[in-house]
Amino acid sequence: MATQSISATATSAASPELQLPVIDHFVGGVRVHPPGSRYGVVYNPSTGVAAHRVPLASRAFVEDAIANALAAFPQWGGASPLRRARVLFRFRELIERHMDELAGLISDEHGKVFSDARGEVQRGLEVVEFACGIPHLMKGEYSDGVSNGIDMYSLRQPLGVVAGITPFNFPAMVPMWMFAPALACGNAFILKPSEKDPSCPVRIAELFVEAGGPAGVFNIVHGDKESVDTLLTDSRIQAVSFVGSTPIARYVYATAAAHGKRVQSMGGAKNHLVVMPDADMNQVTDALMGAAYGSAGERCMAISVAVTVGDATADDLIDRLKARIATLKVGPSRATGMEMGPLVTAEHRARVASYIELGEREGACLVVDGRSVSVAGHEDGYFLGATLFDRVTAAMRIYKEEIFGPVLCIVRARDFEEALALTNDHEFGNGVAIFTRDGDSARDFVHRVQVGMVGVNVPIPVPLAFYSFGGWKQSAFGDQNQHGMDGVRFFTKLKTVTSRWPAGIRSGSEFVMPTHT
Ligand code: NAD
Repeated sequence: MATQSISATATSAASPELQLPVIDHFVGGVRVHPPGSRYGVVYNPSTGVAAHRVPLASRAFVEDAIANALAAFPQWGGASPLRRARVLFRFRELIERHMDELAGLISDEHGKVFSDARGEVQRGLEVVEFACGIPHLMKGEYSDGVSNGIDMYSLRQPLGVVAGITPFNFPAMVPMWMFAPALACGNAFILKPSEKDPSCPVRIAELFVEAGGPAGVFNIVHGDKESVDTLLTDSRIQAVSFVGSTPIARYVYATAAAHGKRVQSMGGAKNHLVVMPDADMNQVTDALMGAAYGSAGERCMAISVAVTVGDATADDLIDRLKARIATLKVGPSRATGMEMGPLVTAEHRARVASYIELGEREGACLVVDGRSVSVAGHEDGYFLGATLFDRVTAAMRIYKEEIFGPVLCIVRARDFEEALALTNDHEFGNGVAIFTRDGDSARDFVHRVQVGMVGVNVPIPVPLAFYSFGGWKQSAFGDQNQHGMDGVRFFTKLKTVTSRWPAGIRSGSEFVMPTHT
């Protein structure tokens, strides 16, 4: 464990080892690993040691996986929603039973502390629980007697083979956002997880088969751009759900849509927390410590900007944060009692550290410098301590760009209107929060802020599974959000039937537009 006062740096990583164990793909209900693959290396971020090789699927391998899923689709898609729900209920039990195992896989490859990894699995599990209600969620509408002897009803049908492409920062929860509704709705699903921490999704897919899910319905292919491009362009894939950085989200949206697919594509973020002068400052400090530094800031809903209204608010907040950061427990992800683990890779740590240098060059005031943190016995781990900048301005790159690490920027605003305008002018619009005791300010903020997910005295307002998750502006492309009813809509086609049956059919043709008079 380290505190912010210990100095040294830790960045080195072992080079790829050919003898490392391989993380298999999961296709047709079994683990597979084709000979002659290209490979990536998966590291343990707490130690910097190379732990596994991950195969990077070729176009041909992904095409085989699609063929497999297509063959499995008719039976699963044709099963009654109740039968699919029964599989999901058993699946839910297995995930809960294997919670510690799954959280351990996440902790070892992502680097988030074990308790946080458990929280991730729990939040993902809630989407599976929501999907267990699929017989109700897929119900259509029915109108009896819309005209003479005519009834009208709508029904939802699965799309076929659909794909999910996910980021490193939530290797269990984000795939669960996608596969739970996709499978519940009767689709066959191919997941391309992040190549940085791919083990947990494979284990989850295995549990689906153990729960009675048919082989070929839930598949995992590991890979890089080649496998993603295959999923985006193959005509047998009906829909693509993506979560990751904004440049790739934009590319995925444009490419998959150009190939005629339905696409939901979530991107990056720069989430603001507005601190009004009347806020409970103990509450604000607690909230910011968790929201800025939890999971080493590698959350799309992390708070990376605190907008303080009034200089006195800023000065008070900085004093409180400095004291709290000094006691923040930074250490290996599996060690008991840690609050913040390492960053995911040596490259990502170097990138975040380069933003700290940039902030200094841009003239922001570096109040706490996390680069001085090292963890005894884990000198090669990718640790970076909590970092705090004051007097950050809207013109600085450290304000404009997503850093995705434990770096919190304080921007001083004169009043509520300036704080609101800052938030609204930012290119990202994923999450935002306001801390205040004043109901008028809170309500006004909720109504006028141009952001998809809003917290009032709640720092990370991630919607629960029965609501939908999604940002605005450059944080999301496409029409439907993740999970909740949007998830059901995204993974189904709506069909509307007009039926005159059995009697009441008049003879003779009608050439005017049918009306009900
Ligand atoms: P990333 O965009 O680098 O990777 C996401 C996925 O895209 C991975 O599976 C990766 O293999 C693939 N990919 C990467 N480069 C590609 C390319 N050139 N062509 C095709 N595919 C490619 O993102 P990341 O670093 O894994 O994750 C962090 C990012 O995800 C952050 O920007 C974060 O804000 C964002 N994120 C957003 C949300 C949200 O809901 N808005 C949620 C979680 C994470």
